[in-house]
Amino acid sequence: MTDPSLHAEHQRPGSAGITVIESALSRVGEITVRRTLPRRGRRMIGAWCFIDHMGPADVGEEGLGVAPHPHIGLQTVTWLLAGEVLHRDSLGSEQVIVPGQLNLMTAGRGVSHSEEGTGYRGEIHGVQLWVAQPDRTRNGQPAFEHHAELPQVDLNSGSATVLIGEFAGVESPARRDSDHVGVDLDLRSGTLTIPVRPEHEHGLVVLSGSVHVDGTDVEPGRMATFDLGRDELTIATNEPTRVLLVGGVPFDEEVRMWWNYVARTREEIVIAHREWTEDSGRFGRVKSQLPRILVNPPPWNTQ
Ligand code: MN
Repeated sequence: MTDPSLHAEHQRPGSAGITVIESALSRVGEITVRRTLPRRGRRMIGAWCFIDHMGPADVGEEGLGVAPHPHIGLQTVTWLLAGEVLHRDSLGSEQVIVPGQLNLMTAGRGVSHSEEGTGYRGEIHGVQLWVAQPDRTRNGQPAFEHHAELPQVDLNSGSATVLIGEFAGVESPARRDSDHVGVDLDLRSGTLTIPVRPEHEHGLVVLSGSVHVDGTDVEPGRMATFDLGRDELTIATNEPTRVLLVGGVPFDEEVRMWWNYVARTREEIVIAHREWTEDSGRFGRVKSQLPRILVNPPPWNTQ
């Protein structure tokens, strides 16, 4: 996770309880991504602690080309609008994902994975998100789920796909360790009011097109965040638009993130990183031709 913060950060207050956050450009494998979380001043939305908007960008046969790397204490959520990605992990999973499908990997105490090409050449567009695992599960066993189909909700001017959690009375089958929600909104032009839960804080990431929400314009590269206490959001569009809505009960555990690790203390991260670097077995092995990603230890490791 390199975060050169190529863009200056601006938080523009909109109407009551809305803040617009600018994403930062970062490099992941072969492509540039727009990183929307974490940003200074906004670390999480519910248990969501990381949002990368990937592309749209053209890739060659190598695809994303993300070599094996470790995770702890989080779930990776991969959702595509275009293209294909081959997921491989240390549990032995080997799963191609295409638009409309969900890959959900739970790291628990340790897992490693790669995100590779399938031979597909062309446009890749999608998101990869992380969900911080609560203390209750974060030291548990790693796991992987692929959902080839997800429930949809018809909306007046479009449709919603429920990736995680519950939306408009429809629930995703995907694993969820805390009270959070993720929904893809595929909107035609028009104005739409969607129900949300007042005990959730929310973020709206525009993937394509643009929206006008409660008096605030949001377009790709920006995320609108909404405070607790709302029971609906009104979204207006005048072009076909794809939006990712994330929400959740504010995460009440102090989270520390560095590189690909989500933990609670620096010591946990130092130990995990040493075990990855030394290939201790904690993170298993990914059957990949790509070499494992190795980076310097965290700056606070003085040993
Ligand atoms: Mn990863």
